[in-house]
Amino acid sequence: MTDESRFAEKTTLHLRNLATKSDAIKTMYSFNPEFEDVPADTGRDLLNEKTNSPLFGTVRKFDGRLLVLLSYTCAANCRYCERQDRVGVGLDRVGRLRPDQIDDVITYIANDPSLYEIILSGGDPLMNPKGMEQVFDSMRELDHIKVLRIHTRFPMQSPQQVNLDLMRRLATAKPTVYLSLHIDHPDELTPEVKELIREFRAMGYILISQSVFLKGVNDDVETLHDMFLQLFQLGVRPYYIYHCQRIVTTERFEMDFEDEVRIMSELRERMSGLAFPQHVLDLPGARGKVVVPTNHWKWDRSVVHDFDELPLDTDSWKVIEEG
Ligand SMILES: *Cc1c(COP(=O)(O)O)cnc(C)c1O
Ligand code: SF4
Repeated sequence: MTDESRFAEKTTLHLRNLATKSDAIKTMYSFNPEFEDVPADTGRDLLNEKTNSPLFGTVRKFDGRLLVLLSYTCAANCRYCERQDRVGVGLDRVGRLRPDQIDDVITYIANDPSLYEIILSGGDPLMNPKGMEQVFDSMRELDHIKVLRIHTRFPMQSPQQVNLDLMRRLATAKPTVYLSLHIDHPDELTPEVKELIREFRAMGYILISQSVFLKGVNDDVETLHDMFLQLFQLGVRPYYIYHCQRIVTTERFEMDFEDEVRIMSELRERMSGLAFPQHVLDLPGARGKVVVPTNHWKWDRSVVHDFDELPLDTDSWKVIEEG
């Protein structure tokens, strides 16, 4: 197999420095030939994102919200990326949504008054600064769009490269702009990153975080307690923590589901509700994230249904896809 067909190892100077001091950072970003020496499966549609794409670069699965994948590239590649069928590989090696493709997305949004929230994602939208500006500028004119959201991991991967002037302009595109930081370990909260978070707050963003349970990285109460409490104290509201989507190359990161529930239950006892995120599953058939209950009630977790009470395949997220 050629190197190009694999999900490439990509890091930044910041992460390489951090990795010399942090095993967690090393594990998150180092290519591991024992598990990853397989071609990236560019045909995979793990979360039905390709079948729910009204036009190139968009995903529409939930009411009122449109995901715009502005870039299919990131400052660094996380080994457990659930979009590794698209990010940095295959068809989308080019990386960014072109201005004319973005124009089409803007027209689509303008013509659908049922949309109220636009979420910039990727890859990492901060890898396409012009694209972010193009989308946000045009959203100023659209009254039905009330909320904008940016999902990024860039500030934790390359804090020195964040374009503060751009981020300041984007924060004013609507009265309500959320900035969601993907962060999985307290070691990512370096002094530079904390300073950035303070700047983002001053710009007016509502800050939230999203995380993934990762075996060998954050699979214990103390690590997550430290991370969520630090985020909370910095003014970042922990929003979601996900179960790691299992694909052949990420199997080593997937935690036992009941261990996750045990950790969440213990965390809930120890922290402010504001520091405690929702534990969720992203299931292919669901019309929204599925919230996982803690151990404080005797729920039967073997039965999951979506918002329409349609039964979901409870094993779908446990099954290893054959590579
Ligand atoms: C997660 C996700 C959203 C946002 O969901 P929230 O529950 O509002 O955070 C929107 N669209 C898609 C396709 C998603 O996967
Ligand atoms: S930053 Fe997000 S999209 Fe990019 S490689 Fe990491 S998990 Fe995937």
